[in-house]
Amino acid sequence: MKIVIDENSGFCWGVVRTIEIAEKTLQESQEPVHILGQIIHNPKEVQRLENKGLRTITHQQLLELQDKNAKVLIRAHGEPPSTYQRAKELNIEIIDATCPLVTALQMRVRKFYEDGYQIVIFGKPEHPEIIGLRGVSDDKCIVVENENDILNKVDFSKKTLFLSQTTMDKHKFKLLRELLEAKMKEEHSSNDYKDYLIVKDTLCRAVTGREEKLIEFARSNDVIIFVAGKNSSNGKSLFKICQQTNPKSYFIEEVDELKKEWFADANSVGITGATSTPLWYMEEVKEYISKLCN
Ligand code: SF4
Repeated sequence: MKIVIDENSGFCWGVVRTIEIAEKTLQESQEPVHILGQIIHNPKEVQRLENKGLRTITHQQLLELQDKNAKVLIRAHGEPPSTYQRAKELNIEIIDATCPLVTALQMRVRKFYEDGYQIVIFGKPEHPEIIGLRGVSDDKCIVVENENDILNKVDFSKKTLFLSQTTMDKHKFKLLRELLEAKMKEEHSSNDYKDYLIVKDTLCRAVTGREEKLIEFARSNDVIIFVAGKNSSNGKSLFKICQQTNPKSYFIEEVDELKKEWFADANSVGITGATSTPLWYMEEVKEYISKLCN
């Protein structure tokens, strides 16, 4: 039985960068290194870095930090300006490992907000990236998840910027964009609506580009093992794509969830994962399956 790891899986470059910054800081720092929230939605990688000394803290724990020499890392999702402000007041050093794409998105939202635009963002209201974006627009941006939100929350008479959290679904973004354009046309006529609506596709290509490749991978193997943390939203949506393409797709977080009967009659097994799944863990899964089936 052939077992292959999806060459397009593993961390996106933004997460690789954040982890590199964390490891370098841990190596060089004599002081404790903390991170605000889990560095990544993957318990295995969190554990690996915690074993090297990284301490995961909450926003409340940041306020209570006794050791003022401690360093605090900002993860790839970014933080609102209030976090930087609090750290400054507490005299705590911030190491900013926000993904540059997220920083660019925050700057764009800030600019349009200051120019008086209504900001509409397709995203999950409580996602850390959205909390950062809400922060740069004084919590005035409108977060939409579906058509009803567009119809009920957006004021179509206003100059509007529409964009997206980086990891949302591109098909849904297109649908919401079309609805917004239609409502703007109703309000301002087909010719004038473009003076009122600016749309920026801010979906991350590291995520959207994976879908087609994942479909191809799921099609070309008899069984798919999808490895991700149960809390990874990116993991859930990518697994759905695998399942729709290949019904013999199984989601696991731990190797001991693997079942021998999944591989009966299989000639090929494909191992893949979310943008937060470490390659080293997929290697372990591969080894475990080889032993299980021998
Ligand atoms: S998914 Fe894209 S935006 Fe998010 S951390 Fe990775 S590279 Fe950056």
